[in-house]
Amino acid sequence: MDKINLDNYKGIIFDMDGVIFNISDAIRKAVDDSVNKYQLNVKQNEVMEEIALLIEELQNYPVPKIILNSYNLLKVQFLEGLNYFKKLRIAIFMFNQFNKYKDAESSIYDGIDKLVSTLSKHRKLAILTNNKSQYAEEILDKFDLSDFFGTIIGFNDVSEVKPNPEGILKILDKWNIKPEEAIFIGDMTTDIDAGKAANVTMICVASGLAQKQTLKQHKPDILVDNTKELIKLFSL
Ligand SMILES: [Mg+2]
Repeated sequence: MDKINLDNYKGIIFDMDGVIFNISDAIRKAVDDSVNKYQLNVKQNEVMEEIALLIEELQNYPVPKIILNSYNLLKVQFLEGLNYFKKLRIAIFMFNQFNKYKDAESSIYDGIDKLVSTLSKHRKLAILTNNKSQYAEEILDKFDLSDFFGTIIGFNDVSEVKPNPEGILKILDKWNIKPEEAIFIGDMTTDIDAGKAANVTMICVASGLAQKQTLKQHKPDILVDNTKELIKLFSL
């Protein structure tokens, strides 16, 4: 099994949802509710990543802006064949259900707090999320993790979100380190693509939203199945 030699690195960048914060159950339940309410014919594990990305995008905007920016909504495959208004209705319903479950039931992955706290004693840590940075701060605060991250970059801090490498490059620039001195840990194909474009070491955690096979196709440097395996990569 691969091991990370921390001596080779100066900084580690974490994605939040799917790496630190576990939103899988909230998404799964929101999908279930939508499938039942609207009698959708979808295979849940095939649409999870698409929906996770859609939700990541939706949660940054008020509804009128979602409607204005609904180009992506029109493209999603799991709503293929439905008219625009029905797509919008389903997406907003699903998004509301997600928010309800997310606040009530979501937590951080077991052991991730200890990993983050230990790594922060040795290396600089940052968060790179396609969410709003303020939302990331709230979640980190809630689980007493804020102090470990000197830098938090959200969609509001960049002109292009992941898979564009802009956010990673911005953090490297701030730290004044080279790409080969940094690690990026994410859970989606968009994370892998961003990490590879930035030339950092890309670790992907297949935590459940994206299918492992799909993640493999995007060729992360290291692919692990869960947080437990992620922790094992760092012999601390
Ligand atoms: Mg993620």
